[in-house]
Amino acid sequence: MEAIIFLGAPGAGKGTLADMVKTEAGYEHVSTGDMLRAAVKAGRPVGLEARAYMEKGELVPDAVIIRIVNERLDVGSKDARYLFDGFPRTPEQARMLDQVLAKHGTRVRCVFLLDVPRDILVDRLAGRRICRSCGAVYHVRNIPPRVAGVCDACGGELYQRADDTEETVLNRLEVFRKQTESLIEYYEKKGVLVRINAGRNRELVQADILAALRKPAAGT
Ligand code: AMP
Repeated sequence: MEAIIFLGAPGAGKGTLADMVKTEAGYEHVSTGDMLRAAVKAGRPVGLEARAYMEKGELVPDAVIIRIVNERLDVGSKDARYLFDGFPRTPEQARMLDQVLAKHGTRVRCVFLLDVPRDILVDRLAGRRICRSCGAVYHVRNIPPRVAGVCDACGGELYQRADDTEETVLNRLEVFRKQTESLIEYYEKKGVLVRINAGRNRELVQADILAALRKPAAGT
């Protein structure tokens, strides 16, 4: 089992970059945000527990997160390579991940800190629109659909995530800043943190990530 992590504010491009790393380097994308949204949609108990926190942009309690991540890793193969996106978000979650990986005789290989200036993040998130049917992502100005409100790929309806409104976005960025400080320190000490300037165009960001993945694993 191998694990890498994307540490990036909401809007840093984690989802898009994860798709690229999946295609180019064969990592399975594990997004706790996507897993929670799926649980809410399906009306699962874990979703009901998480929903109120998510709508406010607050963190869902560690116990809930740890439960869904464990469930996910239990069904994976022992050679699986995981790319965690939006997890861990707290030192408690980071320690739990270390324990799970240690059980499999491995540890976090690389943590990418995707740095993007705050004003770019707010603009990206508040303008983001998602297709209800196929999940394709648009931006009202940067990546507009051909017909407003309609998905180019499948004709589905585009919607704004309940937590992408400007007020909630500001709260999510603040929660992210506070939480990440300790995680940055945690992974820096382990020697696995790789800082990426993710405010640049996508090709440059992708090239930096793939180059880091080609190097032998670092850290202690
Ligand atoms: P995301 O799609 O990663 O921005 O996550 C959306 C929301 O899901 C967050 O604002 C949190 O409420 C919740 N969430 C996702 N991942 C975690 C996590 N690892 N720990 C706590 N809450 C999370």
